[in-house]
Amino acid sequence: MPGFEKFGELEKREVQQVLDSGVLMRYGFDGMRNGQWKSKELEAKLCKRMQVSHAQLVSSGTAAITVALASAGVGAGDEVILPTFTFVASFEAVLALGAVPILVDIDDTLTLCPQAVEKAIGPKTKVVMPVHMCGSMADLARLKAICKTHNLLLLEDACQAIGGSFDGIPLGAYGDLGCFSFDFVKTITCGEGGAVITNNASYYTHADHFSDHGHDHVGNDRGAESHPFLGYNYRISELNAAVGVAQIDRLDNFVATQKERYAILENALMEVDGLKLRSIPEKGSQNYSFLSFFMPNTDLAQKASIALKEAGIDACFYWYDNNWHYYRKWEHLQHKKSLGKLPQEVLAGLQDFSQTDFSQSDHWMGRNISCLIKLGWSIEETQERANKMVEILKRL
Ligand SMILES: *Cc1c(COP(=O)(O)O)cnc(C)c1O
Repeated sequence: MPGFEKFGELEKREVQQVLDSGVLMRYGFDGMRNGQWKSKELEAKLCKRMQVSHAQLVSSGTAAITVALASAGVGAGDEVILPTFTFVASFEAVLALGAVPILVDIDDTLTLCPQAVEKAIGPKTKVVMPVHMCGSMADLARLKAICKTHNLLLLEDACQAIGGSFDGIPLGAYGDLGCFSFDFVKTITCGEGGAVITNNASYYTHADHFSDHGHDHVGNDRGAESHPFLGYNYRISELNAAVGVAQIDRLDNFVATQKERYAILENALMEVDGLKLRSIPEKGSQNYSFLSFFMPNTDLAQKASIALKEAGIDACFYWYDNNWHYYRKWEHLQHKKSLGKLPQEVLAGLQDFSQTDFSQSDHWMGRNISCLIKLGWSIEETQERANKMVEILKRL
């Protein structure tokens, strides 16, 4: 997944241009900047690559989800359905708006199970948020149909899956709104940054204003602005956007490199009895940032995880026990631990985790191992790694 592996001359040149101009902010200073707008340039490139009419850059992927939800009018007490396997940022963004994250089971796609989504829909549900974990997606066609039936918003957390697609449409562009992260471990990076993409002009206008204190950005040099509604500061800086301008041009190349290495690992792992790859929906094309597979049971997956580590095979994750990505370790959410008081709607709406059955998620996560694909591996190194993995897994 890591774009940080390929940070070099192209990125430096873009950043240097911003430093030379002296304008580090994305808005205003029209006279000083000599026509240089790196954030706008990256937004235009994102629109083109993702086949959407609008892109709004923000300061992080977490900010992108917050801004996307806010732009569609999600607020206090509204429920957002999301999977038990995600990054904590997905529910943080929901909570930031006083909305309520409702976790539901995943299936063998490692993301939202459509039946579990249908079961969780209630009168307060406003959004279904599939999270394309580790480079691949849920059955988005089914989720879209469910959203249509129940008049819900489909918001893709595509932070880990930029470059993938579903039914020929880039991930992030399939739903009503899509979010990307450009933090330092994502497929492409800005250092820190994120983006909201959409074909909805009104959501875009809201996102533009909301992410910059509610300023409507009318007129030149910020002279004629007003504030149609409250906002916050989720702006990206020109320095960060400049890195992204160089990185986005390399996205397809990164994905192709990952795909090649993925295929080598996949081919080799097919030889291991009982090992099953993560299910990819029929119309889906992943970004190959991880290779995820299931062992026949939890015990074997735990053993495999330890054995791989001991043999020096790095970057193979057993998410079931991971602090960041699976509900079992989110004790702050489970016990509603917040520095200040949580809104009443949130306190009343959050699930009681001790009473919620996530056995289907545990079934799949307990058996799952996900191996990061690195751009820096040579073909030979990848083959060696694959052979070693097969040897270890066959011995279990
Ligand atoms: C990284 C990530 C985010 C948040 O992105 P940041 O830029 O780190 O705030 C959100 N969701 C998922 C699935 C992520 O992996």
